[in-house]
Amino acid sequence: MLPKDYIALEDQYGAHNYKPLDVVLDRGKGVWVWDVEGNRYLDCLSSYSAVNQGHCHPKIIQTMIEQSRKLTLTSRAFRNSRLGLFYKDICEMTRSHKVLPMNSGAEAVETAIKTVRKWGYQVKGVPENEAEIIVCENNFHGRTITIVGFSTDSNARSGFGPFTPGFKIIPFGDAGALEDAITPNTVAFLVEPIQGEAGVIIPPDGYLKQVRDICTDKGIMLVLDEIQTGLGRTGKLLAEEHEGIEADLTLVGKALSGGVYPVSAVLSNTEVLGVLKPGEHGSTFGGNPLACEVARTALKVLIEENMIQNAVVQGEYFMKSLQAIDSPHIKEVRGKGLMIGVELHPEAGGARRFCLQLKDRGLLCKETHENTIRFAPPLIIQGEDIDWALERINAVFMES
Ligand SMILES: *Cc1c(COP(=O)(O)O)cnc(C)c1O
Repeated sequence: MLPKDYIALEDQYGAHNYKPLDVVLDRGKGVWVWDVEGNRYLDCLSSYSAVNQGHCHPKIIQTMIEQSRKLTLTSRAFRNSRLGLFYKDICEMTRSHKVLPMNSGAEAVETAIKTVRKWGYQVKGVPENEAEIIVCENNFHGRTITIVGFSTDSNARSGFGPFTPGFKIIPFGDAGALEDAITPNTVAFLVEPIQGEAGVIIPPDGYLKQVRDICTDKGIMLVLDEIQTGLGRTGKLLAEEHEGIEADLTLVGKALSGGVYPVSAVLSNTEVLGVLKPGEHGSTFGGNPLACEVARTALKVLIEENMIQNAVVQGEYFMKSLQAIDSPHIKEVRGKGLMIGVELHPEAGGARRFCLQLKDRGLLCKETHENTIRFAPPLIIQGEDIDWALERINAVFMES
């Protein structure tokens, strides 16, 4: 089959809810992927940071194979021998008090929303059905009805109402706006440490610290969505560490899977998860032994193989080199660790055409919103790979 035949199949039988670059990938190893014709590409998206450990990491694959031969799913009707070990590992690593396992990122967000509402009614004493949750403009937290209901992206929400009430939207990066928005019925503030899908938007220094203080003072829960920023991407295990804070609830997903088997988790630093009682929340696949083992190895290799430190070193090198590109199209290069955005001027004609040209030269990345190219390679990337990427990126900017 030719690439166009694979594409025709997808287009004929699949819903068109994505507009992918037309590269049909067939194989991956580390930072590299190959298409069905054997062409090699450097992956600078890492499946939106779900493949931080690199494609088909041998230890994660080995764990997947071994555990899948042993036991894969029990449901939570019974206990399984892997669950407690996963809990212990992830809580110790992230210095968390308790954990609740789910599958997708959106489910972790939904879990947090349910938890803070229940906490509001049971502990804070908010009148029934009056709980408010504050979120930010240009947020991305997933695709469920409740979550898109508090999105400010009209593509994500229009045509999908009616939506879940109880959310208030404030500007991102503005601690004063948070303070002003809090009422006696506010139960939580849900925020990304760096807004990924919005175009790698970094809040002012000290923002998270201020937000932490405000939430503590006003007696509301701080929920950090680290589904994209977490697990080494920004050069720390969790992005909250950049400002030395601890959220009440921290959401992780994506790279917790090692890019292999979906698993997400809600981590708590307080007793807040204790408000959930048997029967009030769950998931058939959440906490299954296969997910637990895959996640344990995905976490283990991040540390053992020094991926977080590598994200610091290579991230700095990559960002400095991108900043050195002299092109009238580039408005700003910003980032933390290996989460880097190159924002183009509106006159540049959109980021997508640059991504298409990069693809033709063997580098895969994706525009986020109209005008930003995101570079987020696996955290195992080496200097020579970055040099290889920079040659292509430079060439595309020279010719465009
Ligand atoms: C990807 C993402 C989600 C949603 O995760 P899914 O696994 O796609 O449901 C939520 N929040 C952030 C910040 C994300 O990047």
